[in-house]
Amino acid sequence: SSAADAPVSGAAEATHDAAAKLFVAMTGRLPGGFWSAPGRVNLIGEHTDYNEGFVLPFAIAQRTVAAVDVRADRMIRVASAFSEEAVEVALDDLATIFPTPVGEHPAVPEWAAYPLGVAWAVMQLAQRAHEHGVRVAPDEFVGVDIAIASDVPVGAGLSSSAAIEGAVALALSDVWNLELRGAELASIGRMAENEAVGAPTGIMDQMASTLGEPDAAVFLDCRTLAAELVPLGLTDAELSIVVIDTRVKHAHSTGGYGERRAACERGAAIMGVPALRDLTVADLERAQALMDDVTFRRVRHVVTENQRVLDTVRVLRSEGVRGIGALLTASHASMRDDFEISVPELDTAVESALAVGALGARMTGGGFGGAAIALVEDHAVGAVSDAVRAAFAAAGFTEPHIFTVTASAGAHRDR
Ligand code: ADP
Ligand code: MG
Repeated sequence: SSAADAPVSGAAEATHDAAAKLFVAMTGRLPGGFWSAPGRVNLIGEHTDYNEGFVLPFAIAQRTVAAVDVRADRMIRVASAFSEEAVEVALDDLATIFPTPVGEHPAVPEWAAYPLGVAWAVMQLAQRAHEHGVRVAPDEFVGVDIAIASDVPVGAGLSSSAAIEGAVALALSDVWNLELRGAELASIGRMAENEAVGAPTGIMDQMASTLGEPDAAVFLDCRTLAAELVPLGLTDAELSIVVIDTRVKHAHSTGGYGERRAACERGAAIMGVPALRDLTVADLERAQALMDDVTFRRVRHVVTENQRVLDTVRVLRSEGVRGIGALLTASHASMRDDFEISVPELDTAVESALAVGALGARMTGGGFGGAAIALVEDHAVGAVSDAVRAAFAAAGFTEPHIFTVTASAGAHRDR
């Protein structure tokens, strides 16, 4: 697969070439530097982030590259392979475009709201920091040209959005001499996604994309933002993570995500806690007595999922990755039955992978489409892929994209 051929750190050569070509076409000049950030796979911990709980994602080898150079004026111009047209805005006008009013579309094409939203968020934070006497004032920032290319599949649950945010945030931090680090970059990405794009997401994706390390998962406490790297040891265990992209596109605009968030808030309110993070499995009996069945099942998913993340970290650190299969599969059942965010394609992916010997499998990402992952013996990757393809064909589903992923480095300057 292309993932296996990609370097452990740094984006694929073809992605750099694409970004460079786009930059030259836009500006007539060569870029001054290349920054990149990865997509991510969430190993376990779904819909726990906005409940202030635990997640365990890892950065993948597929990356988004930003080719960047400064300009002599105070304009920001962005181009992407996604669009024929570059979008150009004065830095000082970003604050008139963003934040995007709740429920409205951004005032720029949606793809451009990611990089421009990042620039806006960086300027907002820099302004606040400057008022507290540190760092450069945003009215000293020079203009920039940014060309973006990526090999992260879009809308597949691998967070191409965090990848573009991470690459642009780090590039701007460097060219504007802000020295922003992991969690700060992640917060900027989230701010852009929430307030400029208008997608109500947690911070998991951005933390994975900025903090990831080769062969490690990022164990993140979404309340404190404390992050620890947990070695995965997939290579030594001769195991692979197979991604099955169902090609069913999830959409933030559909009501499912908002309904789940609302149910979680309702459940926490009924239980009298700030967030579902504050409940444990021992509280579930009381919860069941206090709330309607749907709300209870939403709560039960989050509470048991938090426990599964903690258990997964413990097992990774004691027996190793070979021991986590059952936790992955239990996570899928909880999302299918309690949180009700799976779709038939995801269930088929999980069931057909398990039927031919995957150690564990689950849907990953926000649900309603996107991808599943399976933990598979290296030698069985081909057999599992064939079995999943056959099951999709038998069910009349669109042929899935199947590939392996490796835990890789977070955002950095490539050259
Ligand atoms: P996911 O993060 O799961 O891939 P999202 O809907 O969160 O899906 O983000 C996908 C959106 O992010 C795209 O529709 C596009 O607007 C933006 N995006 C992602 N990668 C790029 C890119 N390389 N160039 C321009 N926009 C991108
Ligand atoms: Mg996303």
